[in-house]
Amino acid sequence: MAERKLKGVPLSAGVGMGRVLLLRSVPFEATGGEIDQDERVKELERFVAAHKEAKERLLALKKNAEGNLPQEEIGILEAHLLMIDDPMLIGGIKELIAKGKPARDAIVEKTEELRAMLENLPDPYMRERAVDIEDVGLRLFRALLGIPELDLSATTEPIVLAAEELTPSETAGLKPDRVAAIVTARGGATSHAAIIAKALGIPAVSGISIKELRDKMSAIVYGDDGTVILNPSEETIQRTRRQIQHLAAEKQKLASIVNLPAETKDSVRLELWGNIASPEEADGARASGGTGIGLFRTEFLYMDRPEPPTEEEQLDAYAKALKTMGDRPVVIRTLDVGGDKEIPYLSIEKEGNPFLGYRAIRLCLENEGLFLTQLRALLRSSIYGKLWIMFPMISSLWEVQQAKEMLEKAKAQLKNEGKGFDQDIKVGIMIETPAAALISRELAAEVDFFSIGTNDLTQYTLAVDRTNQRVNRWFDSFHPAVLRLIAMTADGAHAHNIDLGVCGEMAGEELAIPIFAGLGFDELSMAPARILWQKRALRAITSKWAKETVAQALALSSAQEVRTFLKACLDEIIPTANRGNSQT
Ligand code: PEP
Ligand code: MG
Repeated sequence: MAERKLKGVPLSAGVGMGRVLLLRSVPFEATGGEIDQDERVKELERFVAAHKEAKERLLALKKNAEGNLPQEEIGILEAHLLMIDDPMLIGGIKELIAKGKPARDAIVEKTEELRAMLENLPDPYMRERAVDIEDVGLRLFRALLGIPELDLSATTEPIVLAAEELTPSETAGLKPDRVAAIVTARGGATSHAAIIAKALGIPAVSGISIKELRDKMSAIVYGDDGTVILNPSEETIQRTRRQIQHLAAEKQKLASIVNLPAETKDSVRLELWGNIASPEEADGARASGGTGIGLFRTEFLYMDRPEPPTEEEQLDAYAKALKTMGDRPVVIRTLDVGGDKEIPYLSIEKEGNPFLGYRAIRLCLENEGLFLTQLRALLRSSIYGKLWIMFPMISSLWEVQQAKEMLEKAKAQLKNEGKGFDQDIKVGIMIETPAAALISRELAAEVDFFSIGTNDLTQYTLAVDRTNQRVNRWFDSFHPAVLRLIAMTADGAHAHNIDLGVCGEMAGEELAIPIFAGLGFDELSMAPARILWQKRALRAITSKWAKETVAQALALSSAQEVRTFLKACLDEIIPTANRGNSQT
């Protein structure tokens, strides 16, 4: 079978390879039956026995985790042990059985009711607990039906565990020596399952259509950039095996440069920042040597909930990230939804071409209430650190002007209300459309900084839907057309002396280091796991070399030529096998 590449969302860094084990989800469903009066006592007894067994399984899991997992994760299991005795849950289930529901239905209905209640709470922390209650309910359900726990003791070689979604306790029960990687369809970067996968050091990717995977199929999972390769060729397997061994050794060496500056040999400094999707991730970005946050994707605060987050909720989230970073810049991007990111309560009509439609800044400019709430929260959060505000998906000058007018309006409102904010907030835009790159000189006159979104810039320049697997091989950020637009944007920024950055995936690729260093970028923002690799590459080159290299790359005529050329240049400095980007 031919090798296939899928692209998902990176959850936990590293490369893992093995045979797929599909974890079939238990249909957690009620039967809709009723039980007679005389059966109810027996049903109650069945439930009590299941409750006892589920609790014992959980206690065993906790015991096993002690010494293997950090205290934070053991705390999750302790919380589950409390939940499994919660009168709201257990008492509620017993009550339903006493009213004539079979134990199975009572467990499902009570769990769903409590989960829905938690999901609708405004506090994001409490909402995340909905997963925990479901986890506990599922334990009771499995114990009742005699379904065994996920047991990998019989597996002889590391497996790639694939599931629609993993519960936190399922993840906590995994052993890194048995599980090479995790692939799921669902699961956010802040879910407990993702936090635990990171703590265990198991590479994980979500957002993958599990239907594409089969039991025993071989797979490679790249947790740094979200790539999953199915049926890898023997050549890919051998290459990956060598990469995994090499990378483990190289990664160890990186720890020694955490506190060294990100600068070229001739002392030209570039800031290396982290991309995050929740305030909690700022800690990790900082620990990975990030000297700022170059992209906080705020749309995740708006997802999986019935209405938009309030000004206070947003203020909390932004302030948290700012406080974590202290005097280091935090670039917070205003709401970027539409395209592939759906938000049901915004009722965006179905569109033929969502990526060319009503998304990001377009939607914000037409939803003044929604936009103003976010801008007010951003402004108010600015007293806690060094905030930069960034507008996405700009294609015309008037959009920037209108967005800035809205920002002024939010400032005026806050002034009237006596609420404070920093007077020196930098305001910038993302360069993600060819139009913006082509008029970058004019745009630069309006803003304090640019950050190039190479993911969208590539999609729009090459007319390749970034989410469509079918056209994946046409998507390449190293295409000369994209590179020339990047160079043009750099010229525009330099003409007005504004700060120039990049926050698309390309920023984390070692092959791109000569491009950004050579074009005089000020900052590169990437997945935190990539920061130290890029710092090492930067510290190995000179700015003169980077300038000469990018000048030659810009004159080439295909993405393949550019890649081959850059690879040859970089190989002389850092051999491919020692580079963190397994893809390039
Ligand atoms: C980009 O388009 O490169 C970018 C960073 O934004 P997103 O990936 O969130 O669209
Ligand atoms: Mg984008």
